[in-house]
Amino acid sequence: MTDTSLKTYGEDVFSEKAIRRHLPKDVAAKLLATMRDAKPLDPSIADAVAQGMKDWALKSGATHFTHWFQPLTGGTAEKHDAFLEPTGPAQAVQKFSGKNLIGGETDASSFPSGGLRSTFEARGYTAWDPTSPAFIKRHANGATLCIPTAFCAYTGAALDMKTPLLRSIQAVSRATERLMSKFGKPKAHVSITLGAEQEYFLIDRSFYLKRPDLLQTGRTVYGAAPAKHQQLDDHYFGAIRPRILKFMTEVEERLWRLGIPAKTRHNEVAPAQFELAPMFEDLNLAVDHNMLVMEVLKQAAEANGLVCLLHEKPFEGVNGSGKHCNWSIAYGGKNLLSPGASPRDNAIFLTFLSAIVRAVDLHSDMLRMATAGAGNDHRLGANEAPPAIISVFLGDELSAVMREIETGRAERKTGRTAMKIGVDTMPPIPRDTTDRNRTSPFAFTGNKFEFRAPGSSQNCAASQMVLNTIVAESIDAICDKLDALVDVPERSPKYTDRFNEELQKLLQRLIRKHKRVLFSGDGYAKEWKAEAERRGLPNLHDTLEAIAPMESPANRALFAKYGVLTEGEMASRREIAAEDYESRVLIEGKVALEIGRSMIRPVVADEFSRLATAIGRASRDGLKVGIAGLKALSLKLGAGLDDLHVKCERLEKSVSKGEPRGILRAMGDLRRTVDRLECLVDDSKWPLPKYREMLFIY
Ligand code: ADP
Ligand code: MG
Repeated sequence: MTDTSLKTYGEDVFSEKAIRRHLPKDVAAKLLATMRDAKPLDPSIADAVAQGMKDWALKSGATHFTHWFQPLTGGTAEKHDAFLEPTGPAQAVQKFSGKNLIGGETDASSFPSGGLRSTFEARGYTAWDPTSPAFIKRHANGATLCIPTAFCAYTGAALDMKTPLLRSIQAVSRATERLMSKFGKPKAHVSITLGAEQEYFLIDRSFYLKRPDLLQTGRTVYGAAPAKHQQLDDHYFGAIRPRILKFMTEVEERLWRLGIPAKTRHNEVAPAQFELAPMFEDLNLAVDHNMLVMEVLKQAAEANGLVCLLHEKPFEGVNGSGKHCNWSIAYGGKNLLSPGASPRDNAIFLTFLSAIVRAVDLHSDMLRMATAGAGNDHRLGANEAPPAIISVFLGDELSAVMREIETGRAERKTGRTAMKIGVDTMPPIPRDTTDRNRTSPFAFTGNKFEFRAPGSSQNCAASQMVLNTIVAESIDAICDKLDALVDVPERSPKYTDRFNEELQKLLQRLIRKHKRVLFSGDGYAKEWKAEAERRGLPNLHDTLEAIAPMESPANRALFAKYGVLTEGEMASRREIAAEDYESRVLIEGKVALEIGRSMIRPVVADEFSRLATAIGRASRDGLKVGIAGLKALSLKLGAGLDDLHVKCERLEKSVSKGEPRGILRAMGDLRRTVDRLECLVDDSKWPLPKYREMLFIY
């Protein structure tokens, strides 16, 4: 960082520094304790906090405040109120009370509720989440104080992404404390961490404006593959072009002001594709920050004459964009997924690891569910993205350790005996990239798990909420078993030996039972699909299949048991997901039809009739050459034109039926015809910017 970026880092956040400067000492201490330990805020200090926050916001140039939340639309929402309050003719004061800070009431009738809220009770409520600090959003001539909030219905039912995420953090934290106490560890703060790597495309705005499909759906529904795309791998980690660097620098400047630890930037595999990765943070904050990252990327792109595409598959035939969610658990500041130096720490590590493997095996359907969506459907299972089958990759060393625990036989060259829990230390786990399996959807990468299935546009909260809940359940199941098996009191001198003995056997059973979810091979290979089927692992192909697990009574009971989603909340989310998917596909179908009929067909018809005229004239004039060429081309164009007609009619029928799978099939058929025509029609007449332009000219 340059000196100035260091000075401005976190400047637009109501940070500890700002809190201490703007609040009375005792109030600051109480607020900071609330933020640190996620305790409820003492209501008696709300007014004092609001006063200080207002002073800070006004000094920072804010004129308005808003509760900032994440409704089930997939984006964020805000409604601004001015601090300014008229007190008489031409007189006003700036006001912001504790009440304004803590809660808000909003007419929520247009936010999706999936039947949780009837229209006559349309109010929604926002409630301050003090664990994510308030911040300031700037625009060209002003600024707004944003207060991160949860959003719920009159009945208290969650209508957002944050509420279940916070509940799930609590669930997995409690379970972690419980297991750690079994290892004799004193109570400590549990922190779930997330580092979300964000992939995106950038294209020139002038192209974007000429593509109704990109404008309306975020992806290209037509476009022939260019001769050169990503075959040469020359874009990946290539030198970043100055125009893009200027954009990235602006993004970072904005993010750093917001205290968002943007750390790495690079070119991705596909042409015009890039990635931004921040340092990991506490999960709830990291999720809020990723929502802001997406917003800042879009705004900075616009300011630079570019457009940032966050869709999972804006271009067919080249890599799509994901959002790798790196997840871990820290206890008292120590990463539990980092193999420790002592046998005791290794026992803890292996127990958590086994709990996670068990969780993913038992509940991979819910993890898959959390990545469902019209956009990600085009990415998952395409040849460059993780398949829709959720499996776990552990790497060579760790796989060997797991096998040793399972079989009791030594395997590693270095170890003379098989891994003994509580006695042995772990072999070093290499963390270099060569050991990584990029084709695995859920990979252990040295000291964290990397979930690679989430899509680039998705809110990380969806998958993280599921991961936390299923891991909480797994940890609890292990604790329950240990409670039942270890039959000597904790104070007894025999306790540790008995505990290790039972834990060893328990992990052995667990690995035996759940090892089918472990897979080290090539996740992109066709053979894996067959193998996964043999192993009984679910392969949920599209959104409609992937959201079905939300209907399962067992899944509903699990999320209700952990207080993450009530059965009603889960049902409403399934309904919203289905509706969102159907609406998006229907919009795509309509856009494809409109472009096909009103942009492509006229151009092809024109060229065809020009050819027909030319053929007629050439024959009349008795030309000896050229007629064969004209005829051959007109035959191809004529056939294409007929095809175009038939396929548009078919798409229209599918659109009117409204059945998503039918629409997608008809769109695919129509696309093949249009993409063929793109390579035949006079380039200067083709109405849409082409892949070879959009992906390379910027
Ligand atoms: P790469 O996967 O590209 O090799 P890294 O492994 O360094 O890069 O990190 C990728 C992401 O994982 C970063 O956002 C990083 O901050 C995050 N990460 C690293 N450690 C943890 C952790 N303990 N918990 C959560 N995320 C982490
Ligand atoms: Mg990574």
